[in-house]
Amino acid sequence: MVRDTTEVQVEKLKAERERVLLDVGRLREAFESEVDGDVDEGDPNFAEREKVMALVRGLGLKLESIDNALRQAQDGTYGICERCGEPIDPARLEVVPEATLCVRCKTATER
Ligand SMILES: [Zn+2]
Repeated sequence: MVRDTTEVQVEKLKAERERVLLDVGRLREAFESEVDGDVDEGDPNFAEREKVMALVRGLGLKLESIDNALRQAQDGTYGICERCGEPIDPARLEVVPEATLCVRCKTATER
């Protein structure tokens, strides 16, 4: 992958990272105010907590992927599949800038 493209993707990754961090902060805040809220229908805090935890967990995983991709960019291996070493489809990187696996390997690891 040519250097300019990597730089564009790195900008995207950094912006995305900021956004994810903001989201996590907002979720934590919303969750904390939720706990202090009224508790008059069953156990709303529990359901809410589960939901927020799942979201925060998902964002945490995304953050990890973003950090991995940024590390790859630093090593000059951005856009190269971590598993098979083949270049990742640029169209895929356009949609998922934090991708570190090509579609084939991603599918294989999810199986
Ligand atoms: Zn691969």
